[in-house]
Amino acid sequence: MRIEHIAISHLHGDHYFGLPGLLSTFNLLGRTKPLHVYGPKGLEAIIRQHEELAGSVRSFHISFHVTSTESPEVLFEDGTVRLESFPVKHRIPTTGFLLREKPWEPGVKREMVKRFGLVPTEILALKRGEDVTRADGTHIAFSKACHPVPKPRSYAFSADTRYWEKTADWVKGVDLLYHEATFGSALKDQAVRTFHSTAEQAGRIAERAGVGQLVIGHVSARYAGAEELLGEARAVFPNTVAAHDGLVLEIPLAC
Ligand SMILES: [Zn+2]
Repeated sequence: MRIEHIAISHLHGDHYFGLPGLLSTFNLLGRTKPLHVYGPKGLEAIIRQHEELAGSVRSFHISFHVTSTESPEVLFEDGTVRLESFPVKHRIPTTGFLLREKPWEPGVKREMVKRFGLVPTEILALKRGEDVTRADGTHIAFSKACHPVPKPRSYAFSADTRYWEKTADWVKGVDLLYHEATFGSALKDQAVRTFHSTAEQAGRIAERAGVGQLVIGHVSARYAGAEELLGEARAVFPNTVAAHDGLVLEIPLAC
């Protein structure tokens, strides 16, 4: 119920069939909080028709936002995060998503406030990253007065897509990249034909984009799991992990 934003990459069933069920559950729980749903053209019509045929009256408002498959765009932002979509190459209109933290505001150390008797204007200057020099020559350096500022973290999701080097531009330098890896290299041709990627290609995108960590998933049912293809991705990009349902990956804060 705390969810306020839902982003759908494309209209293949394995990527959105859960949505009508989730919306129905929200309804049963008496949700009133509005919801934002981002996805390709057609998603709103599907949901509306489903509700109409089921005779269900929704207890909350949904704002549908059509994603662009032409160029990256900002879908949402507030004081702490920004959500963007970017085009990928699949059989039907599909986008990936990129979630970025906004820069953290420096915190002034309590003992420095006390020691120097910092006034609000001085605290604000330090929070902007400036040093403070008083009329009497007292110099208060930002680096000494403030706690180290963590780097904003970022996560990108790219599925489904065929190998497309442009993806590396959209996700350049993210801390964590989820990239689909439907096939192993032995089925490279099939990957091209079906607009999917191999694990090795996912590794190449991660390498090219200089991401922190790669997580591969969306593997074909012919494999036991993403672990089976891990070696192929790691041969190109060693810091790769295999996705499985319920996996939680934490991006540690770093200064
Ligand atoms: Zn698909």
